[in-house]
Amino acid sequence: MIELYHVWKRYQKASWALSDVSLTIPNGEFCFITGPSGSGKSTLIKTLYREVVPTEGQVIIGGRNILRIPNHKIHRIRRHMGIVFQDFRLLPHKRVFENVAIALRVLGAPPKDLKRKVFIALRMVSLQSKIWDFPTELSYGEQQRVAIARAVVNNPRILLADEPTGNLDPALAHEIFTLFKEINAQGTTVVICTHDRELIRRFGGRVLSLHEGKLRERDAE
Ligand code: ADP
Repeated sequence: MIELYHVWKRYQKASWALSDVSLTIPNGEFCFITGPSGSGKSTLIKTLYREVVPTEGQVIIGGRNILRIPNHKIHRIRRHMGIVFQDFRLLPHKRVFENVAIALRVLGAPPKDLKRKVFIALRMVSLQSKIWDFPTELSYGEQQRVAIARAVVNNPRILLADEPTGNLDPALAHEIFTLFKEINAQGTTVVICTHDRELIRRFGGRVLSLHEGKLRERDAE
């Protein structure tokens, strides 16, 4: 479960990027965060993995206040999360296998386990045949699928995605959202930041809408 209580965030002396945001996302939910550019979507999602530390308020993940965890222990929380970014963030000089395996290597997974899990994750995104390619040899849609494989290879409880289809055309975006739905169907909580209302309408789910840092809930139209 994800719980935010009265979260405020201000960068330096700018106006509030988040303004008294409180929310609860139960386990297994499929949830969108939407709103215009600059409304605080990215800031909100970054608070969930403590990339951003709120100016005020509490962030509770799985019953633990992540703002009270010392820096050297924050990886224990992050290991239960997969994160997908708009710009994929793949290592260009590493093959697809290694790009996915890296998420397990940092956790010290044994080599045998590692190969099996990487293969399963790549099969889930239908990219087994590209396992020895480099990211630059793949299309944008394929690159994002590799990034999703990397995010889920460790079976995270929570998958966070920050504008994951921002660089993709509508057909590929649809494909990526279908994958998120499949991941959610296996029990993973999925939180997606997007300004793409068409996709939200098509896929449904809970919609949290931000305007100038303030949150309100609305139904998918
Ligand atoms: P969105 O994801 O909806 O586009 P952001 O969370 O990126 O919104 O930004 C919300 C507000 O916070 C904007 O006014 C933005 O300029 C500001 N902001 C975001 N990141 C930073 C930063 N690192 N330093 C200063 N201001 C920032």
